[in-house]
Amino acid sequence: MTARILVVDDVPANIKLLEARLSAEYFEVATARSGPEALKICEEERIDVVLLDVMMPGMDGFEVCSHLKANPTTLHIPIILVTALDQSVDRVNGLQAGADDFLTKPVDEVALLTRVKNLARFKTLADEMILRAATSEQIRLGNEFLANWAEGCDNARILLVEDHERSAKRISQALGDNYQVDIEVSTEDGLNRLRQDGYDLLMVSLDLTSSDGLRLCSQVRSLDTGRHLPILVIVEPGDNTRLLRSLDMGVNDYISRPIEKNEMLARVHMQIKRKRYADHLRTLLEESVELANTDPLTGLHNRRYMEGHMSSLVEESLRDERMLSILIVDIDFFKSVNDTYGHDAGDAVLKEFAERLCYNIREIDLPCRFGGEEFVVIMPDTDLPAAQIIAERLRECIAESPFVVSDTASISVTASVGVACIDKHEDSPETLLKRADTALYCAKRHGRNRVVADAA
Ligand code: GH3
Ligand code: MG
Ligand code: MG
Repeated sequence: MTARILVVDDVPANIKLLEARLSAEYFEVATARSGPEALKICEEERIDVVLLDVMMPGMDGFEVCSHLKANPTTLHIPIILVTALDQSVDRVNGLQAGADDFLTKPVDEVALLTRVKNLARFKTLADEMILRAATSEQIRLGNEFLANWAEGCDNARILLVEDHERSAKRISQALGDNYQVDIEVSTEDGLNRLRQDGYDLLMVSLDLTSSDGLRLCSQVRSLDTGRHLPILVIVEPGDNTRLLRSLDMGVNDYISRPIEKNEMLARVHMQIKRKRYADHLRTLLEESVELANTDPLTGLHNRRYMEGHMSSLVEESLRDERMLSILIVDIDFFKSVNDTYGHDAGDAVLKEFAERLCYNIREIDLPCRFGGEEFVVIMPDTDLPAAQIIAERLRECIAESPFVVSDTASISVTASVGVACIDKHEDSPETLLKRADTALYCAKRHGRNRVVADAA
């Protein structure tokens, strides 16, 4: 999907110019002539990045920015402030109002596209993660993080790869008050450092004397620890060839020499903030996936997860002609545990049952709580006789010692097990479960506390 950029300016000629440049790069462009109009569009339409003129009659850019960032529906939209005056005081005001980046007029083409692309990419990522977040609580947490992210840069670590000694020193001094900066002279040593996790930003000079900064940028992206690492390159003015190549490689931003301290600080800060936010969303997402797939009582996978996974496990086994067995384990007369000792005791039995179950199977086996007091274990590379042995061992482990549910109560529990193994090419998760279930039914009918294997 192409990103949709909103250009806000009170001067039509300025809008035209930016619109033409963005359209040429295949962005979709929307336009607004005033602050209130921009706010309305952002609220009602999909906008991925706002290019916002600062000097406008009535509501100025700072005010528009503050409104957008204070509104939960528009809070996520990245804002680039376009200032007429090259004044760092405007930038500071802008960043305080919540702007995500800034450009100065006349707008430089490379700067424009770099910043718009970077923010559009970031917005897509954030949208994607918010979309997949399981609960509104998680979205709220994400928003809260975003609203407070000024504090989100504490203890950030930066790796600087730069072999001009004086320049390295100046950069690290400028950043040293706020960040921990490590310096490497060669890209090789830089890469080695990056293999260990823990950096929040990589800064690379593209005019190193003895190694190739561009190469480092491309290598970093293939590291596990470097895929999400923001990269800020330092370029000689006018070296657009290298700059453009680096941006194509996914470098996030650049600063030109001679380095202006405030601009560098602002760019470093913005990159680290965005990374922290993306990391935060990623963690929330992992947690939500985890939650959606886990049975809260026993901590085992739930049925939904198992059904999702079982199809691919069965398919793989059939394709590679490997064995795969499943067990369905059902606690005997569990209703009477609840009836006699209460629901809480029943829950305690289920928890300990899950523990004994896990204790008796291998790491690669997939145990899940299928429902109520019924459990399923999927066992790759396991034939029927082996599965029967495991089932028997599990049955014994359940029956041999009572379940302690409180200081005063311990309960004898038994379980019945149905076993089935893949054996025909037309086998599917459904047929396999069906056969195991039939075997289980047979175990129940023949007196419980026993294992029955599917005769197939
Ligand atoms: P059978 O030997 O034929 O399997 O008999 P059973 O009593 O185990 O089977 P039945 O399906 O009749 O009853 C299952 C009981 O499990 C009924 C239900 O209240 C109880 N149960 C289901 N989920 C939970 C739970 O999360 N906690 C508790 N404490 N009990 C549960
Ligand atoms: Mg039962
Ligand atoms: Mg039952």
